Amino acid sequence: MPKPLIRDDSIAVVTPEAAASPALTTLSEDERLFRRTVFAFADQEVRPLVREMDAHATLDRSLLTRLFALGVMCIEIPDALGGSGASFFHSVLAVEELSRVDPAVGVLVDVQNTLVINALVRWGSAEQQTRHLTALARDTVGAYALSEAGSGSDAFALTTRATVDGDAFVLTGRKLWITNAAEADVFIVFATVDPAAGYKGITAFLVERSFPGFTVGKKEDKLGIRASSTCELIFEACTVPRTHVLGEVGKGYKIAIETLNEGRIGIGAQMIGLAQGALDHAVRYTQERKQFGKAIAEFQGVQFQLARAAMEVEAARLLVYNAARLRVAGKPFLTEAAMCKLFASEVAERTASLAVNLFGGYGFVKDYPVEKLYRDAKIGQIYEGTSNLQLSTIAKQLLGSRL
Ligand SMILES: Cc1cc2nc3c(=O)[nH]c(=O)nc-3n(C[C@H](O)[C@H](O)[C@H](O)COP(=O)(O)OP(=O)(O)OC[C@H]3O[C@@H](n4cnc5c(N)ncnc54)[C@H](O)[C@@H]3O)c2cc1C
Repeated sequence: MPKPLIRDDSIAVVTPEAAASPALTTLSEDERLFRRTVFAFADQEVRPLVREMDAHATLDRSLLTRLFALGVMCIEIPDALGGSGASFFHSVLAVEELSRVDPAVGVLVDVQNTLVINALVRWGSAEQQTRHLTALARDTVGAYALSEAGSGSDAFALTTRATVDGDAFVLTGRKLWITNAAEADVFIVFATVDPAAGYKGITAFLVERSFPGFTVGKKEDKLGIRASSTCELIFEACTVPRTHVLGEVGKGYKIAIETLNEGRIGIGAQMIGLAQGALDHAVRYTQERKQFGKAIAEFQGVQFQLARAAMEVEAARLLVYNAARLRVAGKPFLTEAAMCKLFASEVAERTASLAVNLFGGYGFVKDYPVEKLYRDAKIGQIYEGTSNLQLSTIAKQLLGSRL
């Protein structure tokens, strides 16, 4: 069993410290300790591996074992099933702190917690939770498979088919772009039991890597977050027992919509972590680098650029924490989640770009860390709903039924 990072059963919906504090960014003692521990891990154990993992587009397997031992692969899994028994807000903090050092590791932890574990905690039967959450807490990586070659933004146009065969379903089709697929042993897969029923045919299945007829296909060669695996999944008459339907048949659309709304907050966290990491590098470098006889941070032009970036990162963090706190409190957060992901991904791109500029020529080469963060930032505007889709969500809310 992994040793959970924190043991505080008092972490309920809102901590007394947070409730009493006027600032969304005020953390409880427990949250502060958690954040410090995760960042120390990222700094000491992830940082030395970042360049190699990016160059070879592979996750260091020993790092995976250490992430499980740290307890960040099972944040919301209850104690009784071997998890850390912590909250969604802890997942946000973990993703943020890991992404300050490597957003590829950040998204591994994000998908595991905010999509896979989250869906199982909310919709899994007692048997499914015992089987899968126990494994996910111990050493199993999970993946979440909705997108296909022909259905990305229009996710419910998916064509992977599930047909009834006695006490099982037979899945046929392909999924594309699936994060964690190279390492995962359990996959939440969305398929339709009735294409004529539209979104009402969509059903979520728990597919295990060993199921006959299921293979993990080609791994993508990506611009950024290269250590995070992104693969195709192939289902060739893959038999999935009926006991592996997650939630109800025909209700998979609800699972997809609701988990992705929450997952978006995780991507917001990944992006503020990335932006903070880029800003940290820029602050350090500009104080060391000398031109015209003094540190470049002494030029007001540079100071103003850094100040503006710091303001943007803080604004993005407030949006992310606000959405996360609303989610933890059980309040509506749809628009807030869309706003936080959209804004944080733009801030991440701008901040990483500024860091490259402030490093000058050194910002453009792989010997320094900021060019990687610049490449990594781009994905925030694409996955878990592109920026246009977030804008649509916000606009619908703004204009109400007139849309
Ligand atoms: C690295 C990576 C990891 C991923 N991980 C996962 C994963 O784990 N699981 C999973 O299921 N999927 C995953 N995805 C898929 C990802 O969610 C989709 O790529 C994304 O939703 C966009 O879909 P698409 O690529 O088909 O683009 P499209 O939907 O074809 O969009 C192309 C462009 O058209 C725009 N557009 C589309 N529709 C509209 C509209 N109605 N209004 C305005 N503009 C519009 C988009 O904003 C975009 O700019 C991943 C993708 C990548 C690249």
